[in-house]
Amino acid sequence: MPSLKYSIRKRYKFSNGYFKSREVFGMKYLIVVAHPDDEVLGAGATMYKLAQEGHSVNVCILSGEVHARNYRPTTDELNEDVNSSLNILGVDQVIKGDFPNIEFNIVPHLKLVQFIEKAIVETNAQVIFTHHPADLNNDHLHTSLACQAAVRLFQRRAGATPLKELLFMEVPSATEWALNKSMNQFSPNTFVEVGEEAVDKKIEALAQYRGVMRDYPHPRSKEVLKGLAAYRGGQAGMIYAEAFESVFRRGF
Ligand SMILES: [Zn+2]
Repeated sequence: MPSLKYSIRKRYKFSNGYFKSREVFGMKYLIVVAHPDDEVLGAGATMYKLAQEGHSVNVCILSGEVHARNYRPTTDELNEDVNSSLNILGVDQVIKGDFPNIEFNIVPHLKLVQFIEKAIVETNAQVIFTHHPADLNNDHLHTSLACQAAVRLFQRRAGATPLKELLFMEVPSATEWALNKSMNQFSPNTFVEVGEEAVDKKIEALAQYRGVMRDYPHPRSKEVLKGLAAYRGGQAGMIYAEAFESVFRRGF
């Protein structure tokens, strides 16, 4: 991860709903995903690690509003799940859209791009994580395509924060089901050592989302998530890691 020291305001939300600000130093990260829980599956341990180090970690969920999701029981429950999950990881800000679940293919590309651009501006994001475009899930594909367009904002608009890096994530239960072999598969080239505590926090954060965790051998079981982190760590000589595919990097 590139590092750059400067001062930002970091907000902490406590379980009683109050926010507290304090000065921190670090980079500004934005994770752009289609659905609530994708951010935890793809980068939860890295998000926890970065927040612990004092960086600003922000999340943009395109289909984050309840009315866009037909299987979620109530607004309060989904909002509670998102808040308690992202509080565990130390996320600063969550930006939620109301794009319809599993229907991103009929949403105008420009609408998705503009929403992500607004999130980039609001968070001054420098490093952005999003879905891999060969992911089986159709919303993930469209999120990735829109995000790839949106991250060039600094080249189109004066004053926009320049992008330092764009990375694709792997989302267990979706990315490995990349059946269309005419598309490039997820090919990790960036490994973030997170350690066991961050993997456990990732699993704890994911468990805040009702109905997401499954029993082993489902890819969203704690055994598979921990095993994947061990395997990705082993690929790079690290104690547990999350793997990413860096597709754009500017400077060091
Ligand atoms: Zn998803």
